[in-house]
Parts: sequence; C-alpha cells; structure tokens
Amino acid sequence: MLAVAIFKFNVKLNYAGYANVGGLLNYYRYMSEINKTEDDWQKELTLEQYQVLRQKGTEAPFSGKYVSANDKGMYVCAACGNKLFASDAKFNAHCGWPSFFQAVAPETIEVKEDLSYNMVRREVLCKKCGGHLGHVFNDGPKPTGQRYCVNSASLKFKKAGKAAKFIGDKLSSFDD
Ligand SMILES: [Zn+2]
Repeated sequence: MLAVAIFKFNVKLNYAGYANVGGLLNYYRYMSEINKTEDDWQKELTLEQYQVLRQKGTEAPFSGKYVSANDKGMYVCAACGNKLFASDAKFNAHCGWPSFFQAVAPETIEVKEDLSYNMVRREVLCKKCGGHLGHVFNDGPKPTGQRYCVNSASLKFKKAGKAAKFIGDKLSSFDD
C-alpha cells in the first residue's frame, strides 16, 4: 500500500512538473518569436519568401500575386503575421509591385535608410520580425504622398470576414 501511495504521489508531482515546464517553454517560444535563426526562417518560409524577407531580395515587377489584387482585407507579414497594410490603402501605382499610401499603424513597420546599389532609398521592414518588405518613396497619392512599394512575397492577404467593420467603404477594423 505504501508503494502504491508513493507511486501516485510521484505521478502527481511529475505531472505538475511537466505542465509547468511546458508552460515555460511556450512562454519562451512566444518571447523569442522575433529572434529566430536564419535556419529557422529558411525552414518556415518558401524560397521566394526567404529571399525577399530575409535576404532583402526584390521580386520581378508584375510577377507578384498581389500586384493588381483589390479584395477588401488585410495584408499581413508572410513571416510573422503582423498586420501591415489595409486593402483600402492600396492603389495602382503601375510600378509592378503592390503599393500602399500608408501602413495600418505607424508602429507596425520600420523605415531605415538603405544605401545599397549606389542609391539612397528608404527600406520598409516589418517591425515585429525585421523582415524586409520593400521601399517607400515620396511620389504616392494623397493624403500621405507616400508610396510603400512592397513585394508580394513578403505579404499574406487575409480577406475581410464578417467581423470586419467598414466606415463607408473604408476598412476600420479587422478581426481575423
Ligand atoms: Zn514580420
């Protein structure tokens, strides 16, 4: 009887210990989401996504799947799911890449000076994972005058569902 009691006690202890370790691991996995290694990214992303998001590549003009898309919804980061651009900020810039006049919120992206290829450009990155999205130029339409020229490969489109709210035809909130 004593042996059985000790066995049960141990099982309970182990179970509790296991549950706590699991929770801790999940916590660290969440906290380190943006600190994935290049190996991790390479495994998770397609070759095209990896070349754009992690190696700052540029897809060929008019080759991306979102160049002329105009469904209502949200464009999120293909690497981490961060909400980046709402469909109502998309416009046809005739440049061969999906173009937006503003990000869904200023804190969702990061803009850095890019001096590569003997040009002075402003690189646009996902603020959450640091993935390269494209570049921003000063020749966009009103109201911002900005043109965020973004690679389709860095984006995933989430079509607006029933939970999405519109003011007029503007997407005001998005619920995935
Ligand atoms: Zn991201």
